[in-house]
Amino acid sequence: MQSDYAAAVSSLAGLGIRIIGSCSSDAWDTDPLVSSAVPPERRPKALMPGCRSALVFGIPVQKCISDTSPSIWYREHYKVLNSYLDMAAERAVLEFERRGRSAAAVPRDGYIGIKGLQKDPSAFFSHKHSAYLCGIGTFGMNGSILTEDYGPRIRLVTVLTDAVLPEGRVTDKQTCNRCGLCVRSCPANALSISLYQEVGFDVEACVKRQDDLASEGISPCGICISVCPQGSDSGRRGPAGTPLEIIRSYRL
Ligand code: SF4
Ligand code: SF4
Repeated sequence: MQSDYAAAVSSLAGLGIRIIGSCSSDAWDTDPLVSSAVPPERRPKALMPGCRSALVFGIPVQKCISDTSPSIWYREHYKVLNSYLDMAAERAVLEFERRGRSAAAVPRDGYIGIKGLQKDPSAFFSHKHSAYLCGIGTFGMNGSILTEDYGPRIRLVTVLTDAVLPEGRVTDKQTCNRCGLCVRSCPANALSISLYQEVGFDVEACVKRQDDLASEGISPCGICISVCPQGSDSGRRGPAGTPLEIIRSYRL
C-alpha cells in the first residue's frame, strides 16, 4: 500500500512540483538552529495540536524574471507563485484527508502585507525553517534558503499533518559560498557579512524598502535573490538594456 508521503508526493507531482521534503514536528524542539530561532508558540505542535510531521515543498522563481527585480514582472510572478503554492498545499491537505489523516495548510504569507510586517516583522510560521529541517537547503547570508538547483530562487510552503512522514535530515552541505554579493547589492544595507543569524538581518530596513517600492507599485525588492550566483539556474539571464528599462519603467 502506498505510504502517506508517497501519496502526497504523487498528488503534487501532478501539479509539476518536485522539490519536496518532510520532517518530524519534534525537530523544531531538538534542532539547535531552529529551536533558538523559532519560539514554541510558532512551531507545528502549537499551531496544530496532534501534528506529527510537516510536508514542505517549493517551486522555483524564474531567473529571467528575477533578474528584472524590482519590477512589475517580478511582482506579478511572485504573486502567482504564492497563489500556486497555497493551492498546491490545499491539494496535499485533501490527499491526506482522503487517507483518513488530519492536515492543515499554512498560508504562504502568514502576515498582513507590509503594514503587518511593520507591526510584527515575522510571519506566524517560517517555511524557511521547515525547508531547512527537511534538508531542502541551507541558509545563506541573504537569510534565504539556498538550494543547489536554484540558489535562493525558490518559494516554499508547508502542510502540517498528524500522519507520520519520513524524518528529514538537515544537510551539512553549505550552498552559500559567502561571496557577500547579496550584502553589497542590498540598497537598504539590511544584510551583513555573517553566517545566517537573526541579528545579521535588519528586518526593519528591508521592510522600509518594501514599503517604498509598494508606493511605486513594484514591491517586493528581491535584489538579494536575483544576484546570488549559486544554483544551476544562475547562468540564465533576464533582459538587459532597453528591454529591461522598459519593464522597470512600469511604476507609479
Ligand atoms: S529584499 Fe532588498 S532590501 Fe531586503 S534584504 Fe534583500 S536586497 Fe535588501
Ligand atoms: S550572494 Fe553569495 S553570500 Fe549571498 S547568499 Fe548567495 S552565495 Fe551566499
